[in-house]
Amino acid sequence: MVTHAAVLGAGIMGTSTALLLARRGIRVVVFDVAGHLIDRASRWNEGKIHLGYLYAGDASLDTARRVLPGGLAFRPIVESLIAAPLGAAVTDHDDTFLVHRDSVASLDGTAGYFDAVTRLVSDHPDRTHYLAPLTAPAVHRLTDDELERLANPDVIVGGFRVPERSVSTTWVADRLAEAVRAEPRIECRLLTCVTGVTRHASGRLRVETTDASDGPYDAVVNALWEGRLAIDASMGLPSPAAWSHRYRVSVFARTRRPLDVPSTVISTGPFGDVKNYNGRDFYLSWYPTGLLTESAAMVPAMPPILDAEARERIAATVIAQLAARLPRVYEIGDQLESCRVEGGWVYAAGTGSLADPASTIHRRDRIGTSRDGRYLSVDTGKYSIAPWLAQRIAEDLTA
Ligand SMILES: Cc1cc2nc3c(=O)[nH]c(=O)nc-3n(C[C@H](O)[C@H](O)[C@H](O)COP(=O)(O)OP(=O)(O)OC[C@H]3O[C@@H](n4cnc5c(N)ncnc54)[C@H](O)[C@@H]3O)c2cc1C
Repeated sequence: MVTHAAVLGAGIMGTSTALLLARRGIRVVVFDVAGHLIDRASRWNEGKIHLGYLYAGDASLDTARRVLPGGLAFRPIVESLIAAPLGAAVTDHDDTFLVHRDSVASLDGTAGYFDAVTRLVSDHPDRTHYLAPLTAPAVHRLTDDELERLANPDVIVGGFRVPERSVSTTWVADRLAEAVRAEPRIECRLLTCVTGVTRHASGRLRVETTDASDGPYDAVVNALWEGRLAIDASMGLPSPAAWSHRYRVSVFARTRRPLDVPSTVISTGPFGDVKNYNGRDFYLSWYPTGLLTESAAMVPAMPPILDAEARERIAATVIAQLAARLPRVYEIGDQLESCRVEGGWVYAAGTGSLADPASTIHRRDRIGTSRDGRYLSVDTGKYSIAPWLAQRIAEDLTA
């Protein structure tokens, strides 16, 4: 029986797992090298709650099938973790997907792929649990007039409105962190770097950190994202055949007045997107500008440190690059009240370039949990799927 568990990593994966275990009566210790809970990739991403539309580069639909149940379960699980409705954090309108002329999936290929994803969503019994009602999910192909109002026709060849939404990840991070701090069965060890996990003759597990050897625990859940593979290796778990780490930053902007610039994704490949959370808070990314470094090392080196001037330069370039494709982004630049450039690592069990249709980086179908007894290691894969994976881990450890 599991009564005492360690959770490695305090991102959305680790905090959701810790809360779900604690609410089943288990004492949990959470370890993180950062000084605050949910301070890395899980705080600084665009919060797309995937139904599968983004993965037109994986025409097999395996990635869509993998991410869909987690996307549909996100709202009910997170609402129960934070004991509050998510409504205030959800984007107001369905996403617009614009197809770039250099997309890895053609316009017709994308249309066919979107229809197939919509059928998957329509057939799913949990579709009504999504962020916004999905009673009769449908994709709308943009008319020429609609497209002209949104995009530069030299680079965008067509577009669709799909029933997908995002959440403000900073809003969710603040509430999840609050819930963890309020939970008496959870102890947090911040500023603590995990270096390994060891198994003792009793079968119980110890967590090795740069400062101490801690435990024993009945179970350990490794949710360290970019730090995960090294700890798996210390337990003798095999690494995937190939993996990559990419460090990406984006712009988190606030405008002086509300703007109705629509949430738009330029797909499919190394392009960018805009998220409009509430009229004044925006996420803006231009992939080639935000990709600061890549690494195939098991533990990537520290990402570059950005001074104020570098952040300003990145923000200005992202806005200019996006506005060259989506002219309405100029309105955001003109109305900027404040802006932050932040980001995190993206781990993927694949390699190659987003611009290459054959690259394995387009797939997220192998994400999830691997284990050796009560040592569990979880490749979150996507923010949107983490609470659902956490629920499965908690059920497994308390079965
Ligand atoms: C720019 C960007 C945009 C993205 N957009 C989306 C999106 O729209 N939708 C989506 O679903 N996903 C998106 N993602 C992916 C998403 O952010 C991640 O899948 C998710 O946040 C991973 O959660 P996690 O809890 O596993 O990792 P993290 O949030 O990174 O948490 C891992 C924690 O482990 C800690 N850690 C690492 N190594 C060690 C160690 N050795 N010792 C102690 N602590 C350690 C870190 O400090 C960190 O706090 C995006 C990512 C980025 C960077």
